[in-house]
Amino acid sequence: MRNATEKSTDALWKKDEKGKPACPLFGKCGGCRYLDLTYEQQLAKKQKLVRRLMEKHCRVKPILGMKDPWRYRHKVQAVFGLDRKKNPVSGVYEEKSHRLLLVESCLIEDQKADEIIGTIRQMLRSFKIRIYDEDTGYGLFRYVMIRKGRFTGEIMVILVTASPMFPSRKNFVNALLKAHPEITTVVQNINDRTDSMVLGERFQTLYGKGYIMDELCGCRFKISPASFYQVNPVQAAALYKKAVELAGLTGRETVVDAYCGTGTIGIIASGKAGRVIGVESNPEAVRDCVSNAKANGVKNIRFYRDDAGRFFKALAEEKSSVDVVLMDPPRAGSSREFLEALGALGPKRIVYVSCNPETLERDVTVLEKEGYRAEEVWPVDMFPWTAGVEAVCLLSKLKSTQHFSVEIALDEVDITAAESKATYEEIKKYILEKHGLKVSSLYVAQVKRKHGIVERSNYNTGEEKAKVSNVTPEKERAIEDALKHFKMI
Ligand code: SAH
Repeated sequence: MRNATEKSTDALWKKDEKGKPACPLFGKCGGCRYLDLTYEQQLAKKQKLVRRLMEKHCRVKPILGMKDPWRYRHKVQAVFGLDRKKNPVSGVYEEKSHRLLLVESCLIEDQKADEIIGTIRQMLRSFKIRIYDEDTGYGLFRYVMIRKGRFTGEIMVILVTASPMFPSRKNFVNALLKAHPEITTVVQNINDRTDSMVLGERFQTLYGKGYIMDELCGCRFKISPASFYQVNPVQAAALYKKAVELAGLTGRETVVDAYCGTGTIGIIASGKAGRVIGVESNPEAVRDCVSNAKANGVKNIRFYRDDAGRFFKALAEEKSSVDVVLMDPPRAGSSREFLEALGALGPKRIVYVSCNPETLERDVTVLEKEGYRAEEVWPVDMFPWTAGVEAVCLLSKLKSTQHFSVEIALDEVDITAAESKATYEEIKKYILEKHGLKVSSLYVAQVKRKHGIVERSNYNTGEEKAKVSNVTPEKERAIEDALKHFKMI
């Protein structure tokens, strides 16, 4: 297995000296599908995926990758079972099967979490605790989940058992703390479900406060055993920073944070907004939102436990005035009800954070019909070595004059209908980013004219008089590509 202290981002360990894949589970566990690529290659692949889906809507910015893409997962879970000799083992289920694959150390998981799980494996043996058997339903011990605050270093261990009865529980916890004094809290979760969900509904704190704290973008957040918190805090910070930046807040806006989880994005944005409203359906997460707002001394935020679609419908019916909507739905994307209500509500800007570019693309198409224009999308590599890619997309309301007036130079204000799609600067920037070519406004104007797009009579007349030679075929193709991209031809 690859040396854990190795910092290189190359797939040097694709094969070990004997020619075997360096991670014994490569191709089996279903997690790291890109272990046979270098980090740069996988970033390019993810960029391409987002480009393929989103290019027809807006500019695709360069992916935000990690400096050190290893051991980024701060939430780690392990399933427990028995080997042939009836010794406790732990790992993950093989993809699309129920076969347990043994994991001792995983290159994308926090190292300390792996060590604690290893200690628990040994302790189960010495304490003679019975491992749960899925087939018979007998036995006690099922899963371990570890959550760690990257910034605070706080560690929560969740011991998942089939029943509340845990013999010598006190001694077990004491021995675990002795081996790992860095653990700050231990929680027992009782899970008698027969599906593959790791956590059941009942929790019992065995040591410490029953939750951990972490810090992101200068704000502190409470992480309860079951609440959603991004597993890669380094990239979560990069993502939230970008989302708040795209929101373009001046301190006066009314902002809604939809699908707000534990309130992270809304709380981070609150310092730059007039007021923030958070909506989230999970009651435990909403409780965390409230304590997170208190922990950060945020007074201009309110949270609602509701379905985002229903909540937005009510906001739209009440004709509430909302300037910016930040939204971060689950993988399945948003509901039609939500998107239509969002269109009716009509905020100036929408910042859509997505963990699934396919549903992002689908929902952006709906929002375009609702009168929005996608401006730019930033892919973010939240899960290095896996195929997953996160993205944040800015959309702005087409009819709103306020937004454009601050961004467009006077020269560009008097525009024809066709030109309203993109400014010369946007076209030139797109060509430089995508084709690596610098083109003049005059060239763009020539190609536009060729395609019947009417030019303003006074545009660049000085240059025209100079009779600059005609645009090269390469540049012409690049300009045409840009005009197509901005749906002008
Ligand atoms: N923005 C948060 C959480 C994003 S995860 C963060 O970055 O931490 C998506 C969240 O949407 C989850 O907390 C989930 O509970 C919530 N959710 C899912 N469906 C919902 C719905 N229909 N209405 C409101 N919230 C929903």
